Amino acid sequence: MGGMARQEALTGCLVGGAVGDALGLPLEGIPPQRARKFRRSPLRHALVGRWGMVSDDTEHAAMTAAALAVTAGEPFLFTRRLARSLRGWLASLPAGCGLATGRAILKLWLGFPPQRSGVWSAGNGPAMRAAVIGVAWGDQPQQTLDLVRASSVLTHRDPKATVGAHAVALAAWQAAQGVCDPVALGETLRADHGGVAEPLLELIERAVASADARQSTPEFCHALCGKGGVTGFIDHTVAVAMHAWRAFPEDYRQAVEGAVACGGDTDTLAAVVGGIVGARVGVAGIPMGWCQGVRDWPRSLGYLTRLAAVLASSRSLGQPVVPPRAVWLFCFVRNLVFLAIVLVHGFRRLLPPY
Ligand SMILES: [Mg+2]
Repeated sequence: MGGMARQEALTGCLVGGAVGDALGLPLEGIPPQRARKFRRSPLRHALVGRWGMVSDDTEHAAMTAAALAVTAGEPFLFTRRLARSLRGWLASLPAGCGLATGRAILKLWLGFPPQRSGVWSAGNGPAMRAAVIGVAWGDQPQQTLDLVRASSVLTHRDPKATVGAHAVALAAWQAAQGVCDPVALGETLRADHGGVAEPLLELIERAVASADARQSTPEFCHALCGKGGVTGFIDHTVAVAMHAWRAFPEDYRQAVEGAVACGGDTDTLAAVVGGIVGARVGVAGIPMGWCQGVRDWPRSLGYLTRLAAVLASSRSLGQPVVPPRAVWLFCFVRNLVFLAIVLVHGFRRLLPPY
């Protein structure tokens, strides 16, 4: 993959993930049946009026991209850098933080080394950080696995979390190459992880069979996860993401609409799907109105675009390149505003429609 193509894929991956995250966020945690009554058709941003903001999914992807660029992907340094970023991230009081991720970062603050900070969990945290690793380093499979593992065990020690994150990284790399073959990436998972990967492989095969039989992504999700929508268990999120990708590998709008319609952990699911399909279609393939509707700062879409360029040049040069900074104090102030908005949404949900 040439430098220009890689930069386009990285930009599409980061921006595509952020747009999916922002579209899914207002509906996070609502069962699909109720979410249908809230959802705008056609889908648009709805966090504050017609605007959207991003959550932990985008922040983690951005921190991962920055850590990859500034360490040139050297796994030991990457781990240290990402651990430092995660500590700063938690200190800026993010409104949304998974339980396992929060506990692991507290352990980092208490002085545990990055090799021992992870807690036993197979939640979605590692999936949020995986797509950008796959697009940046997919041409080197062992390096991809080492980096995915380093990023995953920092917060999640259950090996299922690493397998799920690896699946996302491999999917994003395939997508960047114009390929969509989840069963083939399953073979890589089997070879690299053995029996631990089997439960996810079975779900991926089910997802492919369902998508190829033209079942919709929300229908597949309902059959897999029940009426609460997609769960925060990484095997579920990854399997449903594979379904949305397989159903619409080159249609960002349809893939993300399918993900958001699943209900449940919609921001993470739509971020994963958006990151994968975004790597295929680039920013040009993401609906312009959806991009313009993301109003966030300091991690704006412009910031993510600059980050992608820096990471691409680090890969081309084979050297560390210093990424643009997201200033801690700015993030903290932004998070206070974001928290207020999220609280208003929380209260709004106590009211009808039920
Ligand atoms: Mg989130």
